[in-house]
Amino acid sequence: MYRYESSKTLFERAQQSIPGGVNSPVRAFKSVGGTPVFMKSAKGAYLYDADDQQYIDYIASWGPMILGHAYEPVVKAIQEKAVHSTSFGTPTELEIEIAELIKSMVPNVDLIRMVNSGTEACMSALRLARGYTGRNKFIKFEGCYHGHADPFLVKAGSGVATLNIQTVPGVTAGIANDTLTAPYNDLAAVKELVATHKNEIAAIIIEPVAGNMGCILPQPGFLEGLRTLCNEEGIVFIFDEVMTGFRLSAGGAQQTLNIDADLVTYGKVIGAGMPVGAFGGKRAIMEHIAPLGNVYQAGTLSGNPIAMIAGYTLLQELKQKPAIYTELEEKTVYLKNGLDKVLAASGLPYVINQKGSMLSVHFSSKPVTDFASAAAEGTERFKQFFHNMLQNGIYLPPSPFESWFLNNALTKEDLDKTIEAAQKSLPQ
Ligand code: PMP
Repeated sequence: MYRYESSKTLFERAQQSIPGGVNSPVRAFKSVGGTPVFMKSAKGAYLYDADDQQYIDYIASWGPMILGHAYEPVVKAIQEKAVHSTSFGTPTELEIEIAELIKSMVPNVDLIRMVNSGTEACMSALRLARGYTGRNKFIKFEGCYHGHADPFLVKAGSGVATLNIQTVPGVTAGIANDTLTAPYNDLAAVKELVATHKNEIAAIIIEPVAGNMGCILPQPGFLEGLRTLCNEEGIVFIFDEVMTGFRLSAGGAQQTLNIDADLVTYGKVIGAGMPVGAFGGKRAIMEHIAPLGNVYQAGTLSGNPIAMIAGYTLLQELKQKPAIYTELEEKTVYLKNGLDKVLAASGLPYVINQKGSMLSVHFSSKPVTDFASAAAEGTERFKQFFHNMLQNGIYLPPSPFESWFLNNALTKEDLDKTIEAAQKSLPQ
């Protein structure tokens, strides 16, 4: 039996000085209940908690630990860099190197600007699209999450969906009115919005494979249809690749799905787990950003040397070893097939969605293709499954509205253990 005495003590203490005891809401286990597990360290595919118990990790810090935790080349690079100062507030050569590296890996990025989080990346990309087009409104999809900047907190996924917050207090009606939403995979709904708001829409922003309502795949023709619509209507098409970037492939979703975006946002992985984000894209749009243009955007710590060297080291590995992506996919398909067998034999309704090394299980009897179908059924069963898996040493995302992320440190033995654990963890 796993026990959580130390985590309980820490959680009680945390609540005295941190809102809800956590620095990001999903960590609080609010929707699954129970005590959040406080982690002490991690290595490779494993997390170690405050009670010295080991877990096989399926969140990978929500994506960036794609090669496993405490990946030695990254740790070494950080250590070597730190002695030369942790921040300069001036330009550095390393910033050029990482920009050039990213440009060499992903399509459609002529210019790229570093920021400090995925939130900042999406917020800045939207401002840029608005500044570039001179239009105010934009379209996002129900259940997609693009960080916590005000305009995106309308029908958002991830923690907003997990906590079932319908309207976020503090986001003014003025701001929310410029956010138009459509169901994921519903091209007709988007076309209708565009027709109703002719020449008013600056951008369409999308998670090209959604990871914030569980993992949801774009249906054939959906992204292609959006691309065509954006071309016809002069709308900036923004791919939020905070999760999919450098994960679905070295070139991200643009490359994997063979769709061009105008602007792309990145996060997490390009800092190898250090606080980083970035937005980039076509020169004609990007050159409107200050100091080239008047769309203002800035950051004291942007391009931070420790974050840059961590990200640079990780991205180099991903570029130089394309086999990583084949291995990751093979592992994920192996896990998917194993879970499929267990769940099929259980007689429970279930859907497993998977793309590359992203995967999620919904205890649903119908296909899960958008937020409504992700939320329709099975959340109670997910809670039970989550806690049973935890008791078996498997750390899943503590919400049905999050994708699982595999890392390449996972061994076949880890995957077999996970499948065996699932067999013992079936909900009622
Ligand atoms: N976009 C997507 C697709 C995300 O998944 C997230 C975070 N999970 C964000 C943006 C926001 O990133 P951050 O938490 O780094 O601000």
